[in-house]
Amino acid sequence: MTEKLYPLVAEAMREGIYLPNRSSNLCSYKHCAFAATCEAEFGGRVKGNDEE
Ligand code: SF4
Repeated sequence: MTEKLYPLVAEAMREGIYLPNRSSNLCSYKHCAFAATCEAEFGGRVKGNDEE
C-alpha cells in the first residue's frame, strides 16, 4: 500500500493539494503553524484553539 500511496501523496503535495490529518498527535495550535488556516479551509476545530 505504501508503494502505491506514497507517489500519489508526493504528487498531490507538488500540486499544492494536501489533506488534513486531525488525528495526528502533532495536530494542535501548539505544534502546527497552519492550524488557523487549516480550520478556515477545512472547518472543524483544531486542539488548542483559545476560542473554545
Ligand atoms: S492543523 Fe496542522 S497538523 Fe492539524 S490537520 Fe491541519 S495542517 Fe495538519
